[in-house]
Amino acid sequence: MRAVEVTTRTVLTVVIAIVLSVFSNAKLMAAAHESDGPAQILITNVRVWDGTSETRTDASSVLIEGNLIKRIALGTMNAPGATVINGGGRTLMPGLIDNHTHLMLNGKGLLDIEANLTWEDLAIGGAAMARLYLMEGFTTVRDMGGANRGLTRAIDAGLIIGPRVYPSCAFIGGRGGHADFALYSSIPGGDTQMSRLNLAVTTDGADEVLAAARNNFRQGASQIKIMQTGGVASLFDPWQLNGMTEDEIKAAVQVANDYQSYVGAHSYTKEAILRALNLGVKTIEHGFMFDGDIAKVMKKNGAYITTNLTAFSPLLAEVSALSDPRNQYKLKTAQAAFKGYLDNVREYKPKRGHQTDCVGNAFDCQKQIAYEKYLNGDFFGNHAALVSMTSVGGEIAALSGPVASPYPETRLGVIEEGATADILVVDGNPLEDLSVIGAVDKWFDAPARDGVATIRVIMKDGVIYKNSL
Ligand SMILES: [Zn+2]
Repeated sequence: MRAVEVTTRTVLTVVIAIVLSVFSNAKLMAAAHESDGPAQILITNVRVWDGTSETRTDASSVLIEGNLIKRIALGTMNAPGATVINGGGRTLMPGLIDNHTHLMLNGKGLLDIEANLTWEDLAIGGAAMARLYLMEGFTTVRDMGGANRGLTRAIDAGLIIGPRVYPSCAFIGGRGGHADFALYSSIPGGDTQMSRLNLAVTTDGADEVLAAARNNFRQGASQIKIMQTGGVASLFDPWQLNGMTEDEIKAAVQVANDYQSYVGAHSYTKEAILRALNLGVKTIEHGFMFDGDIAKVMKKNGAYITTNLTAFSPLLAEVSALSDPRNQYKLKTAQAAFKGYLDNVREYKPKRGHQTDCVGNAFDCQKQIAYEKYLNGDFFGNHAALVSMTSVGGEIAALSGPVASPYPETRLGVIEEGATADILVVDGNPLEDLSVIGAVDKWFDAPARDGVATIRVIMKDGVIYKNSL
């Protein structure tokens, strides 16, 4: 009896297994048939702003296949099998690009990181920053010091969500310069927390720059960041300091060129900016003393400038990292010297990338990101602001070249057939109103938020991270 029972049960099990197997094979085959080739998403009824044009198209359809924009057409489009999203007359535009972030530099300031934080604080803070940038509409950021390739790997593996990250690894500068965040009491030239974690490294002489730049590429840098002049939110370095010799800058450029990449230089004064450009530096970071002479060299060399416009806000004096009276004095003298910047940019119209340059936690940086978007439009008009946040950002990303870039096969910052599918769908028209992409005219007093309600769809690499339509 028992044997028969077992046999019956066994037979039943086998039959069920066969039925299930046939059923699931059928499902698999159906799925395979449906997805001959990569999956398609069709976004209909959207007005397209492509990252460069003065205006949007009339109602259009955009077909995404895999991670690429396959087809753009006025009106409707036939795409059987595609998942359809009705844009409801909204604007479809490129994902935003921030060309100068510090996702891993979380703390009250760089000295706080040196003295009080561990790698766990920084890594978890970096994950929060990555999520923040993506939810603010940034599908790509260039990290100008602090992030090594690990953050990029974690995002690309889907462990955390965030934008594409182009890491610079440790920023490089001379002792006593803007890369030197050792404590006063530390041994000069010795290890620091910043150097051990490859967040920042001080170098004296061309050989040390060479070694540091090579180490950065070894760690997965997509470009090199040097701290050529001093800064305002630091203590050792006068902002006027032209802190790297020609030989040191040449060494950085040499290594970057060997990797078919480039150098970005934190550079404030006219003399320093011209020195950097003439030695082959491709992006000027901050560049506050930009003028007509610099504009000429930039144009000739195909160079770019990115500037944190909060530097020109009267609210800057309230930043906690500047509360020391010595920093307040530096700020006063710097703001007096940088007065010509806005008019010069308006007059000479350099290729200008967008940068927020926030060092701090995700709560504080959220407000700074929103305010920086606002200042960009307020100072230069919405079209110029949007171009800097999209197509110019894509050009700067491409400077990393085919060898060092984490994303060598992308075309970013534009809505064109064949470009990478990094896409936002937003309420309203950003060319008329930057608040639809999250610009806010307040800084510290702005209400906190988690994401931008008017950014309805966020797609990166063909994958949807937000869809509130
Ligand atoms: Zn910076």
